[in-house]
Amino acid sequence: MTFQPAQRLLALPPYLFVEIDRRKRAALAAGKDVIDFGVGDPDLPTHAFIIERLKTAVDDPAHHRYPLGVGAPRLRRTLAAFFQRRYGVRLDPETEVIALIGSKEGLAHLALAVVNPGRAVLLPEPGYPVYRSGTIFAGGKPHALPLHEQRGWLPDLSAVPVEVAREAALLFLNYPNNPTGAVATRAFFEEAVAFCRRHDIVLAQDAAYNEMYFDDADRPASILEIPGAREVAIELHSASKTFNMTGWRLGFAVGNCDVLAALARLKSNLDSGVFTAIQEAGCAAYDGFDRPELARARATYRERAIALADGLRQFGFRVAPPRATFYVWAGVPWGYDSMSLATRLLDEAAIVCAPGIGFGRLGEGYVRFAMTVPLERVRMALARMRELKW
Ligand SMILES: *Cc1c(COP(=O)(O)O)cnc(C)c1O
Repeated sequence: MTFQPAQRLLALPPYLFVEIDRRKRAALAAGKDVIDFGVGDPDLPTHAFIIERLKTAVDDPAHHRYPLGVGAPRLRRTLAAFFQRRYGVRLDPETEVIALIGSKEGLAHLALAVVNPGRAVLLPEPGYPVYRSGTIFAGGKPHALPLHEQRGWLPDLSAVPVEVAREAALLFLNYPNNPTGAVATRAFFEEAVAFCRRHDIVLAQDAAYNEMYFDDADRPASILEIPGAREVAIELHSASKTFNMTGWRLGFAVGNCDVLAALARLKSNLDSGVFTAIQEAGCAAYDGFDRPELARARATYRERAIALADGLRQFGFRVAPPRATFYVWAGVPWGYDSMSLATRLLDEAAIVCAPGIGFGRLGEGYVRFAMTVPLERVRMALARMRELKW
């Protein structure tokens, strides 16, 4: 058989971290002590109170059967209660909350549920690559919304051509933002909701980093706090970064009931939901979102991010004060592009960072460091960088 993967896979953009991944494996194989700021995967363990709940939940035979795809009633009630306490937004657990097998799953499947082939999908660039791949799988046309430093990494929706807005079916937003670390203003959320209502566009706000902020003044809002948002918007949340649960696969979506029903219907044909014991542990997690463990994790990431940002500035990187997410997004020193800088750090200092170009063309000129390494290792990385000539 001469095998060719399906066209839709060939239509995906090239995976630009291949070369960095290859060099990283080579450095590890050569026995180098690699300091890896590449992937946004918490190094801290899942909080103990969540693990304890899983341990008891896993013993219950009722949890061994097929889960309810949209999420167990208990989880959906817990999530609605969390939303009320955290954002002051009242949700109907029956129609306005669904569980996801991690938010990536929901984001990737959303376009299949709401976008007809040929329709435009507006997505941020630089941005999380899943918005684009999900769009391509659905036969939609990705339309990049440029994010620029001068605008605080918020897209200029008034610059979207009317013909594009008219044929657009879906708009992805992501604040606090990966990879830039930017936080949205309330005024921007209002503008985005108004824009989507005017043009009948589904708005999907990826809130994976909503609990990862460093200062109470930056505590992110839910887009559902904006009056009228529920007519067009859903918001996707994730236990992954909030509770150090990336391996568990638990997320959820809230908001417009028709969009959620469409996503749930699609998913009922693709998957059978989240292991019920993990949903139980998710109840413990979201019941405990205001516990001191979370505040401690925020303080840890903040300390690392500030140390790295301060250090990088001394070598000529441009770095804004870290406010949210666990990423430091750094403008590269003069004379480099994102790939040449990432390659040099890896080859000469065994430090891995993500070249900005991997987040889209407009990520060029930046590199992203994930704060998922301990503070001593951050300091060690800075010491190694000091040895290099800049
Ligand atoms: C990590 C991440 C996600 C996905 O997280 P899940 O583990 O699938 O819940 C979604 N969006 C962004 C921007 C992320 O960085």
